[in-house]
Amino acid sequence: MESHDIIVIGHGLIGSAAAKYSAKNNFRVKLIGPDEPAVHEKAEIYASHFDQARIQRLIGKNEVWTRLNCDSVNAYQQIETNSKIKFHSAVSCYYVNPHGEDDYLKKSASLAQQFNIKYNQLVQENLLNSEFKFPSSSEGIIEQAPSGFIDPRKLITAQSKIYESFGGICHKSVARNLSRQSDGSYYIYCTDNTIHHAEKILLCQGSFFNMSKLISKELDLKVKSETIILAEVSEATCSRLKNLPSLLYEINENGLDGIYLIQALQYPDGKYYIKMGCNLPEDIYFTTLQEANQWFEDGKSDDSLHKMKFQLEKLLPQIEFISFQTKRCIISRTTHGNPYIGKLENENIYIAGGCNGYSAMCSDAIGKVASHLISFGDYPEPFKEQDFQLVWKK
Ligand SMILES: Cc1cc2nc3c(=O)[nH]c(=O)nc-3n(C[C@H](O)[C@H](O)[C@H](O)COP(=O)(O)OP(=O)(O)OC[C@H]3O[C@@H](n4cnc5c(N)ncnc54)[C@H](O)[C@@H]3O)c2cc1C
Repeated sequence: MESHDIIVIGHGLIGSAAAKYSAKNNFRVKLIGPDEPAVHEKAEIYASHFDQARIQRLIGKNEVWTRLNCDSVNAYQQIETNSKIKFHSAVSCYYVNPHGEDDYLKKSASLAQQFNIKYNQLVQENLLNSEFKFPSSSEGIIEQAPSGFIDPRKLITAQSKIYESFGGICHKSVARNLSRQSDGSYYIYCTDNTIHHAEKILLCQGSFFNMSKLISKELDLKVKSETIILAEVSEATCSRLKNLPSLLYEINENGLDGIYLIQALQYPDGKYYIKMGCNLPEDIYFTTLQEANQWFEDGKSDDSLHKMKFQLEKLLPQIEFISFQTKRCIISRTTHGNPYIGKLENENIYIAGGCNGYSAMCSDAIGKVASHLISFGDYPEPFKEQDFQLVWKK
């Protein structure tokens, strides 16, 4: 059996980025994880990236997120050039709070200044020709290009293509368990009955760290269902809306909390959909893989359809929608609100994840930090261990 320096478990947004940076640093790397299932109603394990778009912005909730976002965006051109895959659309991004100024808006000016990010205040004149209808109490900002959205499927394909060009290997399976050898290396046993060997392991399992039980400890991670509405529009409407900015809309009303919305795009079924998602009172918290898989397979997301549709039509009153459907996804939240990136004490096992709903847009940088940690034993300047501290369940 060929041994590897590093095995990355989880072929998602962060795993593919971390594997790429590690292979680029001349380590012998294997990336283990399944592809997106052909039929969504049956998978061994799901993921948070099975979609056409994720919002991209630069100004994050704090300095750490902002730096991760900026570092990621700075890498996009090179990833697109090296992979010949275009995944980034710089259509700009609105952040709007219909209830007035909030903590994020208060902090945005100083973060923008620190990271030299250009943005404009949202004023009524901006909205004259806008499709969006916001209440007059709204406060907000507009981040111009490079903010907008990314295609997460294409980003993973691009990262994987570059990773393989550095000699990285992919194995499409699910890791079932790990066994530590006396020399500190590990055997990894997969559900396809293959066995793999590595000196170090990096776990990039998205929302599935605790559910997979690959390690004996549990991260303090809240894993939650996420419901989105796909609102079908005609091809003509899609093309008319091609410059519609992405939107983060901090509504907290009628049971809808924190809306995100992305312009109409063509989905794999050939139709065109505007996507909107938010937190809902009926969101479910998962502890087992069985519960999470059940949600993906036949969860009751349609129970939220009516109120999501109502809010979407209020936000975009001029658009003629053809049909509406819901889709199900999953996110995880860390205790401190930043990603978890760290090493298990007395083990050669590392962790990168804890998306907090914001890690697609900065997955390249999270993967880079994790790869630096596993390759060189520390965090790349100016990041610090406290920024990403692993917190364990008591
Ligand atoms: C509906 C929705 C909307 C979102 N919108 C945004 C947005 O607009 N902007 C944004 O930045 N973020 C957004 N996010 C969050 C973003 O998608 C996640 O932060 C991102 O996918 C996290 O990447 P990841 O690599 O940690 O996890 P994932 O992308 O979920 O990848 C983890 C991978 O690990 C694999 N895996 C798990 N266990 C094992 C195992 N035992 N063996 C092998 N493989 C394993 C999984 O199958 C999966 O492929 C959204 C999330 C959802 C659900």
